[in-house]
Amino acid sequence: MSTPLRDIVIVGGGSAGWLTAGILASDHRVRDNPAVRITLVESPDVRTIGVGEGTWPSMRDTLRRIGVSESEFIASCNASFKQASRFAGWRSGEAEDHYYHPFSAPQGFGEVNLVPAWLRLGEQARFADQVSFQPRLCEHGRAPKQKVTPEFAAVANYAYHLDAVKFGDFLQAHCVDRLGVRYQPAHVQGIRAHENGDIAGLETPEAGTIAGDLFIDCTGFSSLLLHRHYGIPLERVSNILFCDTALAAQVPYADPNDPIASHTLGTARAAGWIWDIGLPTRRGVGYVYSSAHTSHEQARETLLDYLRRSGATVEPEPRRIELNPGYRKTFWHRNCVAVGLSAGFVEPLEASALALIELSAKMISDDLPPNRELMDVVARRFNDRFRYRWGRIVDFLKLHYALSGRGEQFWVDNRRADSIPDRLRELLELWRFRPPGGRDFPDTEEVFPAASYQYVLYGMGFRPEPPSHPLRLDDPEAARRGLQTVAQTARKYLAGLPANRELIEHVRTQGLPRV
Ligand SMILES: Cc1cc2nc3c(=O)[nH]c(=O)nc-3n(C[C@H](O)[C@H](O)[C@H](O)COP(=O)(O)OP(=O)(O)OC[C@H]3O[C@@H](n4cnc5c(N)ncnc54)[C@H](O)[C@@H]3O)c2cc1C
Repeated sequence: MSTPLRDIVIVGGGSAGWLTAGILASDHRVRDNPAVRITLVESPDVRTIGVGEGTWPSMRDTLRRIGVSESEFIASCNASFKQASRFAGWRSGEAEDHYYHPFSAPQGFGEVNLVPAWLRLGEQARFADQVSFQPRLCEHGRAPKQKVTPEFAAVANYAYHLDAVKFGDFLQAHCVDRLGVRYQPAHVQGIRAHENGDIAGLETPEAGTIAGDLFIDCTGFSSLLLHRHYGIPLERVSNILFCDTALAAQVPYADPNDPIASHTLGTARAAGWIWDIGLPTRRGVGYVYSSAHTSHEQARETLLDYLRRSGATVEPEPRRIELNPGYRKTFWHRNCVAVGLSAGFVEPLEASALALIELSAKMISDDLPPNRELMDVVARRFNDRFRYRWGRIVDFLKLHYALSGRGEQFWVDNRRADSIPDRLRELLELWRFRPPGGRDFPDTEEVFPAASYQYVLYGMGFRPEPPSHPLRLDDPEAARRGLQTVAQTARKYLAGLPANRELIEHVRTQGLPRV
């Protein structure tokens, strides 16, 4: 008889550890289920990374899945609504240079091709503004829903901006108080192994040896189990994505009633880009850059200059975080799987890290092996899936850089053919003749769908060549109606949706209707 898998030990209490604990505990009803036990071990001496404020719409499903109230979450985590990313200065750096990557797909996506109709509007017409109503909502600082829209439901697809430290505390309370996760503050100093190489237990001064059947490594950049214990190396991608340092700062609004942007603002600079995220009580701002293309002092000055120009009234001392862009060659090895920064991190562009944590935790939970014998099969499938996903993340992030016409060395180097992954280069060839479509991304749960590629591709100024033969999806009349629908929807929503700050204040004081 095989031994059933009973004890799951998660090491690390950052967003990765608590999201994984929450998903596993709620899916497997751990509070009332004696067959599974989840213990989260967290060092009292090692702080969480404390950044990571942008999420994807998938976070709504995740929070609902683990039984969180959206109103409580928004109030406790200083959260706001996010509908898009707005990229400024990436194409040329000129004043008018910007485009949106919204969370809603182009109107009628997959049924009608709006690209030829948009091209006919001329150079000045921005793709996203024509094919989606959402950029206009962002430009006008509108919320993605009304005060009467129930929790997690949307008028316009949305995600959140949040305070990473508060998010960890909130998840911890929910997991421990409501879902039955056991919390063990203890610093892991050593690993005890079985003869076959599986991890038997974690050695800690506070709680002795903590034994388990499955160990989930959520120890952040230190990757204590997967890297330090098992020696699984990184697949480094710094030859493709050059940013290797971040400077992070928090600044108050000049006026506490200033509007809260309902998008992440990403502004290109000489050696990287600056993120700007609006929470209800402060902004989170940071410069991600390549240290081969600028000095840390210059980078600091670039960030402070941005803050001054954007109206900040205080000058914070930014915190420097070294990045080592890459992902583990294997994520699940023996009875240990890494989730979060311990599995890898490339850079914050497009905020894919928390989404990948959600996907990892969901796959571990859905495929949770009932015993050790089946674990190797699950592990192989997990590794294949996530190797594919990391590859697609790298491709998609590179797309933002590879098409830029900016003149600084960082951007020139980013256009070098040998820095562009083969798969992306091939797709760029193909997209000269037809738009990105579903067949280019065949996975059932692609991290970035074809719609996202269209937004960035055309936002960055890529213009396809006129097709030599008609495309099946080209229906000029349907496309004309599509563009008309976008304009009408934008007008209707602008008239009916509150300002982002207004809705957030309402949620914080009165809550949203619960379903
Ligand atoms: C600059 C920057 C910006 C980012 N922006 C975004 C973003 O906008 N969107 C997004 O999705 N992601 C973003 N990320 C990524 C995001 O921050 C992380 O994916 C997320 O916070 C998860 O971190 P973690 O839980 O893996 O690690 P951490 O938060 O570092 O947690 C590690 C945990 O391990 C514990 N630990 C470590 N060593 C031991 C030990 N020996 N014994 C016991 N416990 C131990 C620590 O105590 C801690 O609890 C960003 C990252 C960076 C660096």
